[in-house]
Amino acid sequence: MIKETKSTCCYCGVGCGVIISSQNDKIIDIKGDPNHPANFGRLCTKGATLHLTAKLDNRLLYPEMRLTREATRKRVSWDDSLNYLTEQFAQTIEKHGPDSVAFYISGQLLTEDYYVFNKLAKGLIGTNNVDTNSRLCMSSAVTGYKATLGSDAPPACYEDIDSTECLFITGSNTAFAHPIIFRRIEDAKKNNPNLKIIVVDPRRTDTAQAADLHLAILPGTDVALYNGMLHVLLWEGMLDMAFINAHTNGFDALKDTVREYTPKMVADICGIKEADIITAAKWFGKGPSLSMYCMGLNQSIHGTDKNAALINLHLATGQIGKLGAGPFSLTGQPNAMGGREVGGMANLLSAHRDLANPEHRAEVAKFWGVESVPATPGKTAIEMFDAVKDGSIKAIWIACTNPAHSMPDVNNVIAALQNAELVVVQDAYNNIDTNQYADVLLPASTWGEKEGSVTNTERRITRVNPAVSKPAEARHDWAIMVDFAQRLEKRLAKSSNLFPYTTTEEIFNEHRETTRGRDLDITGLSYGLLNEQGPQQWPFKAGDTTGAARLYTDGVFQKPDGKAQFVNAIYKGTADKTDARHPLHLLTGRLRDQWHGMSRTGTVAQLFNHAEEPVIQMSADDMMRRSIKNGDIVKVSNKRGSLVLAAQLSDEVQASQTFIAMHWGSQFMHGLGVNALMPPTFDKTSKQPELKHTAIKIEKLELP
Ligand code: SF4
Repeated sequence: MIKETKSTCCYCGVGCGVIISSQNDKIIDIKGDPNHPANFGRLCTKGATLHLTAKLDNRLLYPEMRLTREATRKRVSWDDSLNYLTEQFAQTIEKHGPDSVAFYISGQLLTEDYYVFNKLAKGLIGTNNVDTNSRLCMSSAVTGYKATLGSDAPPACYEDIDSTECLFITGSNTAFAHPIIFRRIEDAKKNNPNLKIIVVDPRRTDTAQAADLHLAILPGTDVALYNGMLHVLLWEGMLDMAFINAHTNGFDALKDTVREYTPKMVADICGIKEADIITAAKWFGKGPSLSMYCMGLNQSIHGTDKNAALINLHLATGQIGKLGAGPFSLTGQPNAMGGREVGGMANLLSAHRDLANPEHRAEVAKFWGVESVPATPGKTAIEMFDAVKDGSIKAIWIACTNPAHSMPDVNNVIAALQNAELVVVQDAYNNIDTNQYADVLLPASTWGEKEGSVTNTERRITRVNPAVSKPAEARHDWAIMVDFAQRLEKRLAKSSNLFPYTTTEEIFNEHRETTRGRDLDITGLSYGLLNEQGPQQWPFKAGDTTGAARLYTDGVFQKPDGKAQFVNAIYKGTADKTDARHPLHLLTGRLRDQWHGMSRTGTVAQLFNHAEEPVIQMSADDMMRRSIKNGDIVKVSNKRGSLVLAAQLSDEVQASQTFIAMHWGSQFMHGLGVNALMPPTFDKTSKQPELKHTAIKIEKLELP
């Protein structure tokens, strides 16, 4: 008999609903959930092939352990592995203090998993060293929202795509990275031929090819463009002065700054036409305008400023909190939002509280029933691996992510993992680079097996349900951590019983209580309601019958005086600059049919039809200058490393610019993947690294 289970796609932040078909405890098919408001039954190629990834040959099935670096890991029991880890963590904490251990987790964990990791680190151990790969993905969106609107809350929703008159897509190849949102954009254009689509991207991506106006700006010049557009709007008298006066602070200072960003100056900085800047500004100013943005803004040393400068445009034109208008960051991972909601980052606490705020620390400590939450900021992703490398962090526990592939300057991360006294990797898969550095390898369950909840890009919480049993000795992420936490509690002689959970529902209910009275209040939600009435957007307070489609409809923002803040953002450029030795820009991005490090999508043959092998895309001009032909093997290098791969002629990249997809790793190419070349430099506010851009040289290899 075939069983159908409603759940969520585990790939991207669109958060599409799926119906999984299973038979005899095996997943056999998948289809889109016609009733899910994120996708109404549609799936992209990745989502539609999820059932083909449900196999055992790439799974970790048993705990493994080694006692010395020279030894080979051997299969052990869960009891032995967790007792060993309890003793090792306890001894390290007793000898070197709580900040000598760290947890590096993932936006692919479910909200309930995240909650337990966070409470374990901050509540039980007393360290804020818990950070996540969402640091690489969304942290500049968080700081951009907080600086301007006061809260990490995307104000818009998918419905706004259907009603907008100007869609401003910037730093996002939506067609590849969020395909079901892009389908909705295509529908909106069909239904409203007057809809203006502006795409800002150095590359002529599939998204850019669908635009009415493509602004192919030079890498890293986004702030100059947004300030230039604001200059035009100011000049043309297209600002909403009533909104500015009633609902914002700081406009006069910003006005003085943007006066300098004349279209002529901005055209020179960005490498685009003056007339196009004016056209974009006028279309945006007429509105209603909806901005959609992603890694192109976030993965930058000025990510916070880029986000804030874009939000400035919305505030200056009053285009926020209205149908079809608003800034709308697109989350990369399926539960980057849920992780932020439970405070699963080194600088955050539960329910959008800030670690730096003493009142917030006291509230969370009281809620958890612990003496205090430590005030010392935790190490963020780059800082964490630097601290592992210099020996101040001795033990690191990595869950559901692959830092030996995804971090910038990967060689530095590998050196850190080699230097650590103890590396624990908790994952579902055996084909990820980080596993080889694990002293203890713990097998986790994955999509199709797990239960819990996730929050998508538009603040919508959906239940994740198991269709089949977890294989062999794999365990759920939350259950592994609860088991470890209970052992550690006992070993550290703490009698608090902080982790009494036997189900994910108990964890969800505790998380829900932390949100009471906060911007993301979900006290009106329960597993029962989500099961019966389907996915819901937050806030959803006790007594509410529906969540909020869009935020700030009353013009009241999450700042002390209720007014939004203009941020005086100044254009600064990229971290790495091209020069005589490294004359080419290297840009990174995603392929349509692959996901992250390909641990899952890389096992499905048909997902290679779109892009068969790793290549570096080059312009005709740059290939001709170097006598490189299509398919020639080239060495791509900078001071951090080198890669060897084939050159591919592309009209999507401009002269002096090149592109490599970030998915390919050591299993598919010679070298570690493109992130080995990327700078570890990060935005000083969000601590998000610049994974989008570096400078390189290319040499043609003469093969025998
Ligand atoms: Fe999954 Fe994202 Fe594709 Fe939807 S758009 S099916 S969530 S990968």
